[in-house]
Amino acid sequence: MFQNKTVRNLLIVAVIVGVYLLIQSQSKKDETPTPVETKQTDKPKRERQPTATTSKPQSATSSLKSYFDLHAPLGIPKDGDDSDDYLMEKPQYVLSYNNARGGANWVAWNLNKSWFGTVERRQGQFITDMSLPDGFQRITHDDYTGSGYDRGHMVRSEERTRTREDNDATFLMTNILPQTHDLNAGPWLSLETFCEVLCKKKNHELYIIAGGIYDKNPEYLNGKGKGRVAIPKSTWKIVVVLERGQGLENITKETRVIAVNMPNARGKEFKKSGWRKYLTTVDELERLTGYDFLSNVPPDIQAVIESKTD
Ligand code: MN
Ligand code: MN
Repeated sequence: MFQNKTVRNLLIVAVIVGVYLLIQSQSKKDETPTPVETKQTDKPKRERQPTATTSKPQSATSSLKSYFDLHAPLGIPKDGDDSDDYLMEKPQYVLSYNNARGGANWVAWNLNKSWFGTVERRQGQFITDMSLPDGFQRITHDDYTGSGYDRGHMVRSEERTRTREDNDATFLMTNILPQTHDLNAGPWLSLETFCEVLCKKKNHELYIIAGGIYDKNPEYLNGKGKGRVAIPKSTWKIVVVLERGQGLENITKETRVIAVNMPNARGKEFKKSGWRKYLTTVDELERLTGYDFLSNVPPDIQAVIESKTD
């Protein structure tokens, strides 16, 4: 009887301890923080960073968690020579960095009205992108100082105003190319404004790619031999216009594609000339840059949407 009682009490204690441990493990699970998309700006790139001895970019097509899926679902531009394409991904955009030119070959990003918020434009200096591997040129704010060229955003500051982190990310120097002020504040801005309207007023989903076109031996900011940043002779942009929530599978031969190529020029008339004057085709931009754009789009559809002008 006494023994039975002890066994019974032990059992009761065991059950109580068991239940306690179960509750503990459950509450610990609940405490595990869910990762915030914009919190760790530099997390994904670390996983993708190639070893210091190779400049070969990582394949970015496979992982579903990749920001390439978010920002470049229509295809990561490829030009058959990966040696000058260092792929980088951030929560806010993805890009290919050209070390010799000290700037991006292209930057790709998603845009819809959810990216627009109330965060104020970052004040102060632009940010050196320290996520570039050792041995790469890390362009600084001052590489542009006194050059006569603006630090021209590819992803516009206003297009990333949901959080402080988002807006700051647009000020990384890997998102910047040299633009004359007349281009930056002229036709380039007018297309940016048009895209903002497409998102906010028409609720469109946009997939955008932008970059520069260079001479074989380009000029560099602040002089040959000294400067580290090549000056593009023009900057181009491709905007694929979809309905909100649509993606690759919704692209048809009728899908609107805006392609422009704007000279890095100066002048009063040029500044107020508006973006439509610089319309071109994706085919022409592919010819000029050597990249294949929209490569995930079925070839028969690609052929149609890349050859038409908006
Ligand atoms: Mn700008
Ligand atoms: Mn193509």
